[in-house]
Amino acid sequence: MDYKALAGRLFPTIDKTPDYWEEKYPPRDLKDGARVTRFAPSPTGFLHFGNLFTCLVSYKTAKDTNGVFYVRVEDTDQKRKVEGAIEVMLKGLSVYGIVPDEGVVGEDEQVGDYAPYYQSQRKEIYQTYAKSLVEQGLAYPCFMTPEELDEIRTAQENESIKGIWGKWAKHRDLGFDEVERRLENGEAWTLRLKSPGTLDGKCRFDDLIRGKIEMPENVQDVVILKSDGIPTYHFAHAVDDHLMRTTHVMRGDEWIASVPIHLQLFRVLGFKPPKYAHIAPIMKEENGGKRKLSKRKDPEAKVTYYAEQGFPKESVTEYMLTLANSNFEDWRRMNQNESIDKFPVNLKKMSVSGALFDMVKLTDVSKNVICKMSADKVFDLSYEWAKEYDSDLAALYEKDTARATAILNIDRENKKPRKDIAKWNDIPDYISYMYDETFVPCYDLTGNATPALAVKVLEKYIDAVNLDDDKDAWFGRMKDICPLVGCTPNVKEYKQNPDAFAGHVGDVSTIIRVALTGRTNTPDLFAITALLGESTVKARLEAALNHYKEEV
Ligand code: GLU
Repeated sequence: MDYKALAGRLFPTIDKTPDYWEEKYPPRDLKDGARVTRFAPSPTGFLHFGNLFTCLVSYKTAKDTNGVFYVRVEDTDQKRKVEGAIEVMLKGLSVYGIVPDEGVVGEDEQVGDYAPYYQSQRKEIYQTYAKSLVEQGLAYPCFMTPEELDEIRTAQENESIKGIWGKWAKHRDLGFDEVERRLENGEAWTLRLKSPGTLDGKCRFDDLIRGKIEMPENVQDVVILKSDGIPTYHFAHAVDDHLMRTTHVMRGDEWIASVPIHLQLFRVLGFKPPKYAHIAPIMKEENGGKRKLSKRKDPEAKVTYYAEQGFPKESVTEYMLTLANSNFEDWRRMNQNESIDKFPVNLKKMSVSGALFDMVKLTDVSKNVICKMSADKVFDLSYEWAKEYDSDLAALYEKDTARATAILNIDRENKKPRKDIAKWNDIPDYISYMYDETFVPCYDLTGNATPALAVKVLEKYIDAVNLDDDKDAWFGRMKDICPLVGCTPNVKEYKQNPDAFAGHVGDVSTIIRVALTGRTNTPDLFAITALLGESTVKARLEAALNHYKEEV
């Protein structure tokens, strides 16, 4: 027997050659500089914020260069497969505008010339390349049993280089006859790479995020096909990213340690390696230290969290870009109304130690995003959200959608719009006093506004208030009340001589504001008054008056 015969013996059903696949999946016809990136999830159904982040960076890298972003599903471990997982993950991405150009685009739905994009459907392809390696004497069947492998693991406890190499690679040089005897015997085998690495060899590569990296060359005879003929991640990565013509592999930095294996595989297979960008995990501050954002401990690790809370997708995307590139915020200041599509992600500017997740920052970013939206947009998006997550809010909106939109428009068209809303679930509280159903009176006062002054002010204002007033007339009425209750309409005058007055026009308006809204700080009170309507305004003023009368 020779290598060729051995290859035929190991892979009797494989009649194709690598050339066949090379021809079937030719290099892509793209412009110079176009990058081909991918997301390669295992179908667990869980989309971690870190996955979304990595995807956004991969997606932007492709889009910024008129390249291609595709999804390949790494489902070789059928035990871990979860029904409906792909749909959930793709939906999680599409919410943030990440829609693959090709690959798996729905549960069992694939588009693109490089199909199949499910690894479980690519067995013949992997085996063709595996067979070819055997033919060239570059890979060999290993018959070691799990018990033998365990023994080696124990024996290697104090070795610096672990795994199957050197003297541990017992089946690397088995004679053909011995191999034949074991095959005849029906012994299970895995296929191992016959590593060409040497102990003093070096693996050097230029990571697009971390820069130049040098590591010892791989000397392990790693498994490339498991005993069921399914490839390991290492082998599938090399074959798939080559045949799918990926130019840039962006993945978690837990894979850095495996790069020497990967580059060796690309070399042995005769493939040009892709460029790598290893992305550090998103971190979280805890007790003064840093740890990875955890699926178990942190609700915000789950991508669905943001939708549940009602963070608009624009905010989350914008926030992720602040995590990705520290210069994004400067860019945003210079390009306030530009689409983020225009911001080119720079891999070199990404954090090597892991960007820090900060909820306060996300909240700020989101307030900025929402304050620039039109009231119609805020209404539409928050109504969509409410229909799914807050039926009470949806019901309030449905009483009068035009009024709801007008409420959301208060102070929105100002030069400096207020930033009260960071996420849609802030809205019920923000607008609660605009609806009798949710209004909670609170008569606490601030400044010079005392219950005694409140009684005087409210008695006058109940008679004076007129919902047909324009803004000037409305404010005029408050000023007019001032001298009648011992206050001055002029704040400056009050400051010069505070002992001469019971308060100033600001105190008068505080009393009215508190009576109408239960709060001392609200957006424009004139607009609020108009939208509350006459009967509600009168009723709340009366209730407040009665309350203060009892208090004094
Ligand atoms: N399925 C691998 C993972 O989820 C993909 C890594 C890669 O992008 O190559 O970690």
